Amino acid sequence: MNKIYLDHAATTPMDSEVINTVNKYMEDYYGNPSSIYQTGQKANNKLNEARETVAKLINAQDFREIIFTSGGTESDNLAIKGTALARKKQGKHIITTKIEHHAVLHTCEYLEKHHNFDVTYLDVDKKGFVKLADLKEALREETTLVSIMTANNEIGTIQPIKEIGDFLKDKDVYFHTDAVQAIGQMKINVQDMNIDLLSASAHKIHGPKGVGMLYIKKGTKLVPQMNGGAQERNRRAGTENVPGIMGFKKAVELVMENRKELVEKNTYLRDKLIKGIENNIEEAVLNGPRGSKRLSNNVSFCFKYIEGESILLNLDMQGIAASSGSACTSGSLDPSHVLLAIGHSKGTAHGSLRLSLGKDNTEEEIDFVLEKLPGIIQRIRDMSPLYNKE
Ligand code: PLP
Repeated sequence: MNKIYLDHAATTPMDSEVINTVNKYMEDYYGNPSSIYQTGQKANNKLNEARETVAKLINAQDFREIIFTSGGTESDNLAIKGTALARKKQGKHIITTKIEHHAVLHTCEYLEKHHNFDVTYLDVDKKGFVKLADLKEALREETTLVSIMTANNEIGTIQPIKEIGDFLKDKDVYFHTDAVQAIGQMKINVQDMNIDLLSASAHKIHGPKGVGMLYIKKGTKLVPQMNGGAQERNRRAGTENVPGIMGFKKAVELVMENRKELVEKNTYLRDKLIKGIENNIEEAVLNGPRGSKRLSNNVSFCFKYIEGESILLNLDMQGIAASSGSACTSGSLDPSHVLLAIGHSKGTAHGSLRLSLGKDNTEEEIDFVLEKLPGIIQRIRDMSPLYNKE
């Protein structure tokens, strides 16, 4: 086991209160929520309580606008395929960005390949921001859906979601946002931001894996992508994961209770890490913006002349768990699509390191990383034929 865990954007350890909650519901609430007798209805009532809690987190108007899924990936798939296919007669054009998670990008590619959709992948600027002007220009009469993530999982850029929502508000275009990385870190108000669909996942906020949710604003047309029973108001078939969903509810309650302090602490440690790396390692390029438009728990750098994988192995030997970018692309030889989209060369993009903070990280841990990292980078560079030592 690593003694310092700095990969909370990949997943988070389950909170002990969440574990206790999941255990309790595994033991006491085994009924099928669709069954009409008391044991079933008791579980169903609990699911609706969980919907209320999640609705509160994002200020949804009605708990019935929340449906539970198997995670962020399923929510993204359902939001995009579900709404695009429901309105395909109206138009087959979708707008998204080049830096979305693969759960969004590959879903859009699927619609292009198998259903003849046309997708515009918006560019982002050097810090990873989408420009509203580009969105306005890309919008067509046949556009039925815009999908733009709230915050990026690799470089932490927070998009101007309210401005995008305000712009789309009086247009007949649905607005979906992947808020998987954002819900634990920032306030989201779907009514104020004019969001029609929002995806989230429990395991990024100290909840269980394999549980997520999709907010679907009342009146939004959507074709289910899982066929079977009538669960989740006919929008997602399959018996609900009651213990997992109740663990998600507990994780959301903890976010609502502790987010302010967590963001303050993370921001301090984040900025200490950024400053320490910039002051002690040459040719280290910060990816993403500084300040309040960056997720409070995200630090991402490219170190020129070296491979991210070797940094990770060396950090691991020091007991530090980190990532080169996205957990979903680790093992792939291709550099990150996000780092290429913000303008890095393939060579520079290969030298990436993401450190993502969580509630249990301490300043001593950050000091330890800052003590070890410069030596690690120097040793790897010294072995690199690309590194000019003069
Ligand atoms: N969207 C984003 C932005 C993510 O970071 C992730 C997970 O890394 C997902 C979607 C997928 O979520 P899940 O792992 O719950 O399927």
